[in-house]
Amino acid sequence: MSASSPTADQFESAVQQSLQAHFNDLSAISQEIWSHPETGYQEHHAVQQLTDYMEKIGYQVTRKFCDIETSFLGEYQTPGFDAAKHPTVAVLCEYDALPDIGHGCGHNLIAIVGLGAFLAAAEVLKAAGSAAQGRIVCMGAPAEELGGGKVLLLESGAFKGVDYALMSHPAPVDVLEPSILSIDHCQAEFYGKAAHASCGPWEGVNALDAVIAAYNNVSMLRQQLKPGHQIHMIIKNGGAKPNIIPEYTKAEIYIRAPTSADVDELRTRVAACMHAGAEATGCRVECGLNDLSYSGLMSNQKLLSIYKHFGEKNGMRFMILPPGAYGSTDMGNVSTTIPSIHPGFCIGDPHCTMIHTREFRDSVGKPVANHFAMKSAAALALTALELFSNPDFRKDVQTEFDQRRPVFMGKAATEGTDMTDSVDGTLQLPSGFNPDRRRSSRQFLIDMGLLKPSLLEQKRDSIQE
Ligand SMILES: [Zn+2]
Ligand SMILES: [Zn+2]
Repeated sequence: MSASSPTADQFESAVQQSLQAHFNDLSAISQEIWSHPETGYQEHHAVQQLTDYMEKIGYQVTRKFCDIETSFLGEYQTPGFDAAKHPTVAVLCEYDALPDIGHGCGHNLIAIVGLGAFLAAAEVLKAAGSAAQGRIVCMGAPAEELGGGKVLLLESGAFKGVDYALMSHPAPVDVLEPSILSIDHCQAEFYGKAAHASCGPWEGVNALDAVIAAYNNVSMLRQQLKPGHQIHMIIKNGGAKPNIIPEYTKAEIYIRAPTSADVDELRTRVAACMHAGAEATGCRVECGLNDLSYSGLMSNQKLLSIYKHFGEKNGMRFMILPPGAYGSTDMGNVSTTIPSIHPGFCIGDPHCTMIHTREFRDSVGKPVANHFAMKSAAALALTALELFSNPDFRKDVQTEFDQRRPVFMGKAATEGTDMTDSVDGTLQLPSGFNPDRRRSSRQFLIDMGLLKPSLLEQKRDSIQE
């Protein structure tokens, strides 16, 4: 960052005042979401809390945004808004819970950080005149944990016309760039020939041997992998009965690595492991990529530097975490589509060290966590306001994004950046993985029973039947 102070410094006290004014209401919403945990695509109560509040205080709200039952869009734009000249910034809310554990990932806090940042930025924009202009949206992103809500939103065109995306996630400490890996969900199906295992095994072609050989190939590959590169594989179907030579088996494989380019490379090697297993046993193999693969997180450093500036002024202390705690999130896909950030914020409990635990769930339900969440909300609002008030900063942010994306994405970057197919853009298929075996994310979620088909889709299905 340059030595000159951010232009959004002038808005700092207004942002704090706004968040203070809304604090009791935001805390109540956080508590309400926390005590009514809902899993992905079922978050009706949470969405009602958030949208009713925005509407009550006068914001335009679209429910069922992009035809997704538990998504929404709240928005405010300055008078004379012109998309060619002024930026659109999205702050994202998550609000889904984990099965059994409830809000063990603290998405009740993400919800009020997103809503708080939106309200504070919008209220400052209303009073800023020509000093800050643009459009701010509060986008409800369902089903982060199990259903890739942001992948579905991207596929549905929700980010068309959105220039930047901001959100933050509760964590044991303040951290600017959590380790987030790209992940591909793959499968391999092996086809052999059934025969009686005692009377005539020589007549059979053993698909279980094929998948076992493939698994062992992957196990051997693991010792050659770089840190942060991971392969997880399970056998989903290993045959029907011991006295039948298995004619069909199926494996599921997750491939994780820091960037999409890394995953591309690794996927080719995993495909070779599958094909070798098939070859050795005389089986046929079909490798497919499942849907909802997540890209790694490409945090925009220019945006993070502003977030850090305002976070530190407000008492946040950012830690550099040792490498090792790796996860994946659908925010990765957003971050490789438009400049984005996804820092972690401390929830104020020194004894709580790990998300997805019952201890973390209890901590994010305490009133003190709401106070800590507001520090992040303020820093996000001020990062948005820097974008609204500083055209040079916008240029720097975009330049960084344009330079890093091709390296980060590898082959996938050449697929184009059309928002409607940006998901496919992360799923370049090297030889050995069959692109025809991929459904759209929406169809995948409908098939899994996670998402209800829209009226249009129901109508289309009934015509096809
Ligand atoms: Zn989680
Ligand atoms: Zn989470």
